[in-house]
Amino acid sequence: MNTNVLRNLSYGVYVISTLDGDRATGCVANSVMQITSSPVTVALSMNHDNFTNGCIRKTGRFAVSILSVDSDPSLIGTFGFQSGKDVDKFASVPYERKEGLPVIPDSCGYMVFKVVGETETSSHTIFLGELIDGDVFGSAEAMTYAYYHKVVKGKSPKNAPTYIPEEETPAAETRTVWKCTVCGYEYDGEIPFEELPEDYKCPICGQPKSVFSKTEK
Ligand code: FE
Repeated sequence: MNTNVLRNLSYGVYVISTLDGDRATGCVANSVMQITSSPVTVALSMNHDNFTNGCIRKTGRFAVSILSVDSDPSLIGTFGFQSGKDVDKFASVPYERKEGLPVIPDSCGYMVFKVVGETETSSHTIFLGELIDGDVFGSAEAMTYAYYHKVVKGKSPKNAPTYIPEEETPAAETRTVWKCTVCGYEYDGEIPFEELPEDYKCPICGQPKSVFSKTEK
């Protein structure tokens, strides 16, 4: 079996948000798809280990902010590479409330859903959500998962449903790269990494230059 075939499936990059009591919280997901139009229903796949999973169960609602190619890529680091259990992710991110849930204006638009069904898998809950509100924020193109990997050069955290371990990646010729040890971002700027200013920060997760390590790949 060659699981690389799965790389041909298409996904977006979304911030899934809900409430932890009164506090706004959320995480990044790439598996959201519309499955019916009347009523509008989507399926969302969310790892059991994501703090947001339990919060969606409690509130019975979730919102989806659709990231665009113009969205600040640090949103992916803020929401994708740390836990809402430990961090107030919305503390540093401008947001609006729609139907009581936080949504991110720096996106293509938002949708708010009420949970109408749930199915368990060994690692993920599939939430079925019926649309109760939504609007478009701008005309920027939606960020696809492929764009995130190829252009933003981001990686997937291990609890993403689409995560593929590194050893399954086809071998390419060896080269030296500076890689963020927090989010996996690989630096590929014109200036050699060593010559970047000391206040350089990872564009994905915002961590300092010191968390980068030199690796051969
Ligand atoms: Fe990073």
